[in-house]
Amino acid sequence: MKFWLFLIEGALLTIAVVAGVWAFQIWQEPEAIKPGGCQETISVGQSVNGVDITACRLIGSAIDSNNALLVVGTVHGDEPDGKRIVDELMTQAVAADTEIWVLRDANPDGAELVTRRNANGVDLNRNFPVKWVASDPMARTYSGPSPASEPETLALMNAVETINPKRIVVFHQPYAQIDCPPERPATISDRLSQLTGFKSECIPGEKSGSPTNSYTGTFTIWVNSTFPETTAVTFELGLTTMQAKIETIAKALRILASDGAYLP
Ligand SMILES: [Zn+2]
Repeated sequence: MKFWLFLIEGALLTIAVVAGVWAFQIWQEPEAIKPGGCQETISVGQSVNGVDITACRLIGSAIDSNNALLVVGTVHGDEPDGKRIVDELMTQAVAADTEIWVLRDANPDGAELVTRRNANGVDLNRNFPVKWVASDPMARTYSGPSPASEPETLALMNAVETINPKRIVVFHQPYAQIDCPPERPATISDRLSQLTGFKSECIPGEKSGSPTNSYTGTFTIWVNSTFPETTAVTFELGLTTMQAKIETIAKALRILASDGAYLP
């Protein structure tokens, strides 16, 4: 009988020690380490199929910094790696005095269907209302029936108008380069290139994606033509991205966001 009591006492003592160590660890947790996630989430619109499109201000972000960085994870449904960068960004709080917003997925229907275009078969990155050009509905880059005809396009426009970021980085695949917006100096592209090792590609007169292609109605053309104080840059990831590179790019974005000295 005494033996059983001894066992029970031992078990209780073990539980007490484990609970004590656990409580001590929680108590010890430094104030500075905050969990990642959203400090604020706003709905900016819905997809054709009714999926909410949201933007999130990362935990720890300054409010109304007038220097916000907006990161768009994906516009084309078959280019998912930018979402991994957003997920990585969300694992920790941002540095003091910086403001980072993320719009993880601007084309949730396309992601669901694993297709470049939205559920109406429109390439959102040809649907913006600056330099919009009509195109073949069967084309992979169909620009839609009219400028800004798609709800996802309107959601992205709403996000920019609401958040009023000064820097925007939008991810695409697979050209593995950072484009230089022709409307702006290459400051941001060159900085990201320095921090990530991706080349900053400035081709006079073209400056985007492929040297043989002149883009029309893109998100970055719309931003850079409409908001003189905002610079939007397309970051083309490769076909595949190692996790280490995802972390490097997320870190680069945190550093970019804390670059107060943005000189237009
Ligand atoms: Zn793309």
